[in-house]
Amino acid sequence: MRLFIALTPPPELRSRFGELSDLAQARCGGRRMPDANLHLTLAFLGEVGPARLEALVHWVEQQTLPPGCWTLDRWGCFRAPRIVWIGGGKPEPTLQRLHDRLWQALAALGFEGEPSRYVPHITLLRRAERLETRELPAFRIDWPYRQVELIHSLTGPGGSRYTTLARSRVA
Ligand code: ATP
Ligand code: MG
Repeated sequence: MRLFIALTPPPELRSRFGELSDLAQARCGGRRMPDANLHLTLAFLGEVGPARLEALVHWVEQQTLPPGCWTLDRWGCFRAPRIVWIGGGKPEPTLQRLHDRLWQALAALGFEGEPSRYVPHITLLRRAERLETRELPAFRIDWPYRQVELIHSLTGPGGSRYTTLARSRVA
């Protein structure tokens, strides 16, 4: 099964991100992510067999995060996959540390695939027709977070469906 570890926004932020998705889609076209799928990926694990799932679930459930807050205030694009995203205008050392700490532990559990560079972002659109974000409105959203989730992604005809399999502890 296809798995990843992510932060998921509280409901009030989901709808604010959804409003930004609408603005982005009106300008850029492409496929808008459903609000229910909006997330920040910290670690993409890819295919994980059932034999490794139990240990992974157990490990996630044992983790406690230092509470953090991510400030989102910029639009961005990934040109090749034609993705439009939102993220932070400043480097985010707390998220980078969280990413590094997760990957250090995941590597010890036998997982591979840590990216050489981590760009924290929330994908709003895929296959955008116009990668023009300059005229989109300015915004600033503070996202306080306390928990990571292990998520199963099931690819279907209308896009992926996510199911949370485990959550870290809340301090
Ligand atoms: P859709 O199927 O609608 O395109 P999706 O891309 O979000 O949805 P997945 O492909 O399962 O669904 O990806 C889950 C998460 O992992 C997303 O945040 C995605 O950007 C990220 N991801 C997917 N593939 C990789 C990869 N090879 N490397 C790093 N992150 C990835
Ligand atoms: Mg995908």
